[in-house]
Amino acid sequence: MLRLHPFRHHRPATLAEALALLGEHAGDAMPIAGGTDLVPNMKHRLFTPGHIVSLKPLPELRGIGVADGALVIGAAETLARVAKDPLVRSHAPALARAASLVAGPQLRTMGTIGGNLCLDTRCTYYNQSEFWRQALGFCLKKDGDVCHVTKTGRKCVAAHSADTPPVLIALGASVELASAEGVRRVPVADLFLADGIWNSVRRPDEILTRVRVPLPAPGLRTAFEKLRQRNAIDFPLLNVAVAARIGERETVHSLVIVVSALGSRPRVIGGLDRMAAGRPLDADLIEDAAERAFQQCHPLTNLIVDPDWRRAMVPVHVRRALDRIAAGGPTPVR
Ligand SMILES: Cc1cc2nc3c(=O)[nH]c(=O)nc-3n(C[C@H](O)[C@H](O)[C@H](O)COP(=O)(O)OP(=O)(O)OC[C@H]3O[C@@H](n4cnc5c(N)ncnc54)[C@H](O)[C@@H]3O)c2cc1C
Ligand code: SF4
Repeated sequence: MLRLHPFRHHRPATLAEALALLGEHAGDAMPIAGGTDLVPNMKHRLFTPGHIVSLKPLPELRGIGVADGALVIGAAETLARVAKDPLVRSHAPALARAASLVAGPQLRTMGTIGGNLCLDTRCTYYNQSEFWRQALGFCLKKDGDVCHVTKTGRKCVAAHSADTPPVLIALGASVELASAEGVRRVPVADLFLADGIWNSVRRPDEILTRVRVPLPAPGLRTAFEKLRQRNAIDFPLLNVAVAARIGERETVHSLVIVVSALGSRPRVIGGLDRMAAGRPLDADLIEDAAERAFQQCHPLTNLIVDPDWRRAMVPVHVRRALDRIAAGGPTPVR
């Protein structure tokens, strides 16, 4: 049986109190929202904070609404609510779909969109019990000095494994990060770093409070596709988010494709606007985009399945997403 270590659980009533607690116990405190990732990680002794600060009671992290030309989602809203909310479904259907495909129903009922954006990276050699990791001499990300994937002591390439960030990047969304110093706004496209040990520009003393998704421009169509071992519950082995602005006669104005769950941060496929702008979204363009994504994605042995197979699945999922956009029908949400 995996037991939790002893810690103090704080339930602040306001964001100011929560930030004060993180400051008071700096280096030994972590926020907790739904706990669906943090609690298993604590059981595996990947994190052993002496204090955990609960975010779910904070009113400042609640609510879904439209303000100043954006859909605004409180970080403590659950994935189940995000997936079902009528505003999210009408203004950001691909986000509703991505939220509906995270894990399984129980985890979506507890897990939050803020926790999804702050999710730790994952790796076959890391998400294991302390006993398992010790037998291998640990690894660079936690307690060791070598990476079993890259075979060097320089870089952790654990996979960014959250489903909502690629969609949020494709939609041009931003997040608000609050700390004792104030609030800063960061585009989700700039939130993540290519460093599997801590893959975010968010500092440990910062709380992600809100997500802002710009209301869709005319002609914007979006899609989200996900590959996983068991559709009922598993983390992504690969996910693909697409946002395309389509004009008259089905001509592409702009095209963004974000591929994730491969390396430590989502990858925005380069050179698409130049390739796609002014062309009709037909089979030729879909094939060109799928091939471009394939050329730019290079999965590693950080997850349990064969990286060559994962790479071969990249164009398959890009095609599926673009076919869905070309068909122009409603976005399916589970
Ligand atoms: C079996 C299983 C399957 C899963 N499958 C998927 C999947 O398919 N896709 C997927 O994306 N995820 C998956 N998850 C992971 C997890 O359930 C979700 O990512 C969920 O959204 C995490 O949210 P949470 O509120 O539970 O986060 P928590 O566990 O509470 O926190 C996660 C991390 O974020 C930090 N944090 C949380 N909220 C904030 C905030 N507002 N500001 C600053 N820091 C914060 C915490 O300190 C912690 O480090 C799975 C988990 C399990 C156990
Ligand atoms: S990528 Fe390497 S360093 Fe990072 S968790 Fe996996 S084995 Fe450890």
